[in-house]
Amino acid sequence: MPRDFLSNIRDRYDVIVIGSGLAGMTCANVLGRSGHSVLLLEQHYKLGGLATWFRRPGGHIFDISLHGFPHGMLKSCRRYWTQEIADQIVPLENVRFDNPMFSLTTRYNREDFTRLLSTDFGVDPAAVTEFFDAARRMNFYDDQELTTRELFEKYFPGREDVMRLLMEPITYANGSTLEDPAITYGIVFSNFMNRGVFTFQGGTDFLVDLMKQELQKNGVDVRIRTEVESILVERSQVRGVRVGGRDIAAGAVVSNASLPATIFKMVGEQKLDADFVEQCREVRLNNSSTQVYIAIKPECEIEESTGDLLFSSTAPLFRTDLLLSRDISSRTFSFYYPRTRPEGRARTLVVSSTNANFEDWGNLPPEEYEASKQDLIETTISALEKYLPDARSMIDHVEAATPLTFQHYTQHPQGASFGTKFEGLAVSRGLPDQVKGLYHAGSVGIIMSGWLGAINYGVIVANDVDGHLLSASSTSSADLAVAEKP
Ligand SMILES: Cc1cc2nc3c(=O)[nH]c(=O)nc-3n(C[C@H](O)[C@H](O)[C@H](O)COP(=O)(O)OP(=O)(O)OC[C@H]3O[C@@H](n4cnc5c(N)ncnc54)[C@H](O)[C@@H]3O)c2cc1C
Repeated sequence: MPRDFLSNIRDRYDVIVIGSGLAGMTCANVLGRSGHSVLLLEQHYKLGGLATWFRRPGGHIFDISLHGFPHGMLKSCRRYWTQEIADQIVPLENVRFDNPMFSLTTRYNREDFTRLLSTDFGVDPAAVTEFFDAARRMNFYDDQELTTRELFEKYFPGREDVMRLLMEPITYANGSTLEDPAITYGIVFSNFMNRGVFTFQGGTDFLVDLMKQELQKNGVDVRIRTEVESILVERSQVRGVRVGGRDIAAGAVVSNASLPATIFKMVGEQKLDADFVEQCREVRLNNSSTQVYIAIKPECEIEESTGDLLFSSTAPLFRTDLLLSRDISSRTFSFYYPRTRPEGRARTLVVSSTNANFEDWGNLPPEEYEASKQDLIETTISALEKYLPDARSMIDHVEAATPLTFQHYTQHPQGASFGTKFEGLAVSRGLPDQVKGLYHAGSVGIIMSGWLGAINYGVIVANDVDGHLLSASSTSSADLAVAEKP
């Protein structure tokens, strides 16, 4: 008999969270810890969403999105998860750039960038200081007219090389472009520059396992392989969800699924104001990615000076469309040395990531799709040979993922790696005004995506839900008091 993943489920919870990405899990954890009854439903067979990993024979474990995040993760994990999780967060030592304009290695923090910009790039130190201060002062309520390109032009006019150094990693990290509002760049960039780039020692599998234990400790009812079909709404009020043909009631529902899927698939536009639906239609998805996963033979060692994170490009200039092109000229190589998973077998892995457009992969006939994947693998190995001359002979296992792979595992339309563009934030935040008790927490825009952005957004929404539940319970006791009056 097939296993019932909904066995012993209750008929009602205070909150139902749809999706176990970092935002969904964090939201569920904060609410569970505050004493609410929480049900977490995940359609996949494991938790984590895009914070995920997979195993291959030979003891290889590949991380998908563990390439780097800002130091702020440490504080967020300590506050909203556990000290044990925070203790695993460690700095990356060597961030490398190699492109036709420059080749360098950096700690990727303000101090080192100030040195590089003023000495190697010959920029006036006063302009560097002014730029860093301006970026650090930026906040959400600032002018959103200024674009990132205009920001660079203001401080470093005509300096394509400086723009590339400052922008390339952020574009890789979250798909942002020079045309996006400068505040989104400034906030994310300053987060990184604060202390550099960090990673999670032990791997994504260890992190998600620790998170799962904590969720269960806080009483969250966690269910995998449970795809929510619809969100139940009556008279502009959320009532619960339908999953596996069953209706489960809740005082609040938080969707961590893609924003358009939440609105158009799970709620249904007929339940929302026409203006709001129009606003939802205007929301653009972020780009997707391709990746090539390379496991190095156990007997082969790679010098750690090769770098932890290597932004490599053969494009003469930095252009967003070139970063997304099928004709790949730019790759981010992440090197995972044996210290990444000190507890496991000593293994070295390399993951190459490239931003990609869904349209370039989504509609290929099967044979062409397979051939394109093979081509992606071959060209990536050739690119890696520049840094590891014997790369080809060192490989134990290699495979690739495309936008279709990301779409398949997360149900993100078009395999979007970073949710939606910036305008998605207003829609995400506006949802509870349309349907009382319904919230969205997940990647929308540059600040609210990535590991840190997703966790922090989960916390923000948990606080909103907490407030909603408290006011709902006080309203119902007030109603009761009124009803009981003689
Ligand atoms: C290739 C790649 C590299 C990346 N590298 C980095 C990096 O180095 N640093 C960084 O900070 N970030 C990185 N990111 C981004 C980061 O991984 C994501 O921004 C973040 O993990 C997203 O979290 P989320 O909470 O928004 O939800 P997601 O991870 O998108 O999870 C959503 C969850 O909802 C579930 N779901 C969807 N529909 C349903 C349904 N109907 N019922 C039940 N469950 C449902 C999905 O299965 C999924 O588990 C990368 C992303 C990619 C793709």
